[in-house]
Order: sequence, then C-alpha cells, then structure tokens
Amino acid sequence: MLRQNESRAFLGKYLIDPHVPWRHKRREMMAISGIIPVAKWLAKINQRSDVSCRLCKRAREQRSASTENLPEEMYGHINSAFCDGMATNVTAAHHFIWRHLYASMQAAQTLARKLRVVTPDKESSMSTFWQEEEFKFEQICSRELLTEKSQQTLRKRSL
Ligand SMILES: [Zn+2]
Repeated sequence: MLRQNESRAFLGKYLIDPHVPWRHKRREMMAISGIIPVAKWLAKINQRSDVSCRLCKRAREQRSASTENLPEEMYGHINSAFCDGMATNVTAAHHFIWRHLYASMQAAQTLARKLRVVTPDKESSMSTFWQEEEFKFEQICSRELLTEKSQQTLRKRSL
C-alpha cells in the first residue's frame, strides 16, 4: 500500500471511478475490511458452524476423494492455488498474467537493450537457476557473494 500507483491513493481512485461496477467496489471494500462472507467470517458472526472450505469439499467430492481434514475457508485460502476448488482458476490467472508480462517485455525489447528473459516457459528458484550451466552465473560472481550482497541490500532497506 506504500508503493507508487499501488497505494491507498490508487485504491481511492478505483473506488470513486464511475466506470467500475458497484459490485466490484463492494467486493474490494469487503476484502479490505475482512468481511468477505467466507466460512471463517460467517462462523465468527455465528451464521455458520463449520469453517471448512466448501470449494475444497466440492472438488474432493467430484473426484471421490476424502473430505476429511478440509482447510479453513478464508479469503486468502480461496484466492490461492492451495484451494482444491480454485487451484485451476488461480493457476490459469497466474499463467495469463505471466504470458502478458512476458509479451510486454518482448514487445519492449530492442537491439539496444540487453534485457533477456531466460526462463519464459518455466519458473526457477535462484538455487536451481544458479546451477544451470548455460547462464554461466559463476563467471559473474559466486552464489555466496550474491547472497551476501542481497542480504546487505535488505539490511540497508530495513534501516
Ligand atoms: Zn478450499
């Protein structure tokens, strides 16, 4: 909320924009104030006794899996790939955004710029990335040096 164009001011612009449908604004305000009618919140206001995720339950029932030990239905859970009922949609949204970002970066690419997306078709952790020979990161600096410099930068930012 402190980043430029992602701040409360941006949220305020969104909420007063007459082109944004009321139901979208209403949902955003409910999410921010923590009153989205998920099972956890409904149980909190005594409107539901079971806090288990209804989407996970339905997804498990459809594939004849056990409905024991269902996770709690919270706003964060139903917006994550950890929710059995939403995993496909959340993953598709992630891939859609990634493809859009990648296409935007490709469109902005010119010969003068040296930006190169090295893993357009997959995600890699830094550890895995560093081990791949083709990128020759070890010739630039060691993984330990990169880790040390990253930690120094983080410490400077937190001061
Ligand atoms: Zn779920």
